[in-house]
Amino acid sequence: STEVVDVIIIGAGYAGLTAARELHRAGKSVLVLEARDRVGGRVWTKQLDDGQYVDLGGAWAGPTQDRIYALAKEYGVETFKTYDEGRSTQFFRGRVKRYKGLIPPLSILSLLSLDRAIKRINKLSKGINLEAPWDSPNAYLYDSMTLETWMEQTIGLDTARQFFKVAAEAIWAADPADISLLHALFYAKSGGDLEMLMNVKNGAQEERFVGGAQSMANHMARELGDRIRLDSPVRHIRQQPDSVTVSGEGFSVEAGRVVVAIPPVLQEQIQFTPPLPAARQMLIQSIPMGAVWKCYAIYDRPFWRTANGNTPALNGLAATTDGYVTVTFDTSPKDGSRGILMGFVLGNQARAFSELTDNDRKEAALHAFATFFGEAARTPQQYLDHSFLNEPYSKGCYAGLFGPGVWTEHGPALREPVGRIHWAGTETAPVWNGYIEGAIRSGERVAGEII
Ligand code: FAD
Repeated sequence: STEVVDVIIIGAGYAGLTAARELHRAGKSVLVLEARDRVGGRVWTKQLDDGQYVDLGGAWAGPTQDRIYALAKEYGVETFKTYDEGRSTQFFRGRVKRYKGLIPPLSILSLLSLDRAIKRINKLSKGINLEAPWDSPNAYLYDSMTLETWMEQTIGLDTARQFFKVAAEAIWAADPADISLLHALFYAKSGGDLEMLMNVKNGAQEERFVGGAQSMANHMARELGDRIRLDSPVRHIRQQPDSVTVSGEGFSVEAGRVVVAIPPVLQEQIQFTPPLPAARQMLIQSIPMGAVWKCYAIYDRPFWRTANGNTPALNGLAATTDGYVTVTFDTSPKDGSRGILMGFVLGNQARAFSELTDNDRKEAALHAFATFFGEAARTPQQYLDHSFLNEPYSKGCYAGLFGPGVWTEHGPALREPVGRIHWAGTETAPVWNGYIEGAIRSGERVAGEII
């Protein structure tokens, strides 16, 4: 006999877990079907042998991300500041430079050019309608060009353009040629402004969670108990006049409503009966995922924090326009009992990095760390790296990318329920789209829709 519940939730990432929790608390019977053998989705805290952990997926939170902080507070998960004392590092044209604060050591002209570009994006983004980007003034104009085209036209100086590109890659895990200007403007406003997205202090990288970013997901899972079923990839959603049936290998569940809380591109792998409307079908075919590797090197202590010879005390932040690893952070534990450096390989570099052998990736990453922070960085106690690109239930990260024409042509289908099917996930969020915060908000929104 088929199991029956009020609402089935597909996906136990932050969006699905939040939706399930809210619906459960509102008295609905729920069942979460999760493809993987764990909850958290694109947030994955990996425990290491020595009791340390690293966040292989989403990690940071910052100001205005109210919902994730509320979850942390509710479950007693502590946060702590990302280490940012000391100088930042820039590697450019074969030279290492150390600098204070946020302003990289570029020529005055390049700095002005960079600053102007950031201000211009922030200004243009103010006009975006977050709930309906396609209804914004000049939406079609902005959606007809890529962020790269805009950079070519707007940022006159090559150096400024190169550093703007590094920042853009770090924000979207994509090449600026892969997203539309409209999406860039939407995204900037969605999180506040470009500074908010780029910064550690007063920005999206300000804090981390003690125990890792998966902690709150684990707490939600505990609250939901056996209402979550792992190792259960959904293959088929069939809508009948009075109910909807969700099935996969060896299971079939019936419900009044279903919440699909997986990235748009993965929805293509689910068979829908009747087929999705054209607008929805075209939308989910149009949103590929970003590409990023996280490279972790673990040392017995955060040696870069202490001045050494000619090298001043460093904050672990580095940026470069060359090579695979272009941005790094200090991701040591709160008590500094270990030193952990994390390097991002982003966008097109991530694709190339994926072609390397395990050992070549390790050597390339450690070479970058040694260039930025000195030879001691070349010999960590442990190295590990990860990309969600080849994980079948993510297919990339951080989030879905909206290229030219996607928002204006297919945007209206993004949150529009199809019969008994409702859509959640960070890609559907007007605020903090692409972030854990957006995923949580989408879960709350969809629960409200159903209640
Ligand atoms: P997901 O987490 O993708 O959840 C979807 C779930 O559905 C998954 O568990 C998946 O296994 C499951 N699923 C997929 N297909 C099926 C199926 N057919 N049947 C059943 N289940 C299925 N955000 C931040 O806020 N801060 C950061 O610092 C940050 N850094 C990031 C770094 C990396 C490397 C990555 C990968 C992401 C980062 N993000 C960050 C983004 C953030 O992790 C995501 O926005 C957020 O986790 C998305 O949550 P979600 O619930 O919408 O989707």
